[in-house]
Amino acid sequence: MTVSVENLVKRFGAFTALNDVSVAARPGEFLALLGPSGSGKTTLLRIMAGLEFPDSGRVAFDGVDVSDRPAGARGVGFVFQHYALFRHMTVAENVAFGLSVKPRGQRPAKAAIAARVQELLELVQLGSLAGRYPSQLSGGQRQRVALARALAVEPKLLLLDEPFGALDAKVRKELRRWLRELHEAVGLTSVFVTHDQEEALELADRVVVMDHGVIEQVGTPSEVYDTPASGFVCQFLGAAT
Ligand code: ADP
Repeated sequence: MTVSVENLVKRFGAFTALNDVSVAARPGEFLALLGPSGSGKTTLLRIMAGLEFPDSGRVAFDGVDVSDRPAGARGVGFVFQHYALFRHMTVAENVAFGLSVKPRGQRPAKAAIAARVQELLELVQLGSLAGRYPSQLSGGQRQRVALARALAVEPKLLLLDEPFGALDAKVRKELRRWLRELHEAVGLTSVFVTHDQEEALELADRVVVMDHGVIEQVGTPSEVYDTPASGFVCQFLGAAT
């Protein structure tokens, strides 16, 4: 699916968090939003998700304006660093949650939910841990459960906000490789927020570099590194001049 945002402006009081931002992720693309803290990455992602609404501009999915649709009606999957699992629910119940809260009529039968949950847990390589509780899992395993839960609603768009931020470097690296494989296997369009250049480089087909609510550059990792479009990009990436 193509997700595009056009001329987004978002203000919080007198502060402009996004100032005329336009960008699109193409079908099957892995797009990384990269930039320093406070540059507007999360705000942009939340507007794509329908968790936040712009003051002006629009969001379109495959050309259809979804600007007024709330998050629940957009059919996107989210994985956030602090989007915690339900502690009182097993791994399988957590993954099933997105399916079992669907409105009557759209809700699959119990047996179909159970089969789908098992399939998703196999996909994230946690098939044998379905009956565990989140407290019995490692951080990396928990984020894989969060991914399975996000994928349960069969999203065409997956939005990730620093999902591995709280994990140590080795686990992060493993999960990155694995996320990239998953993105391809499921045929997703993914938008990933990070302030970590290495992460953006390794994951992204294209990188969007943001600063102070504007997009400084959009390009493949090598374009951005080899020909930084501005002094800011050059300095932020530590690229040789
Ligand atoms: P990033 O993800 O790049 O760190 P954010 O999009 O989270 O940046 O934030 C951009 C700016 O908008 C920050 O200065 C932040 O303090 C401000 N901001 C974000 N959300 C709110 C909010 N709900 N109320 C007020 N200011 C906000």
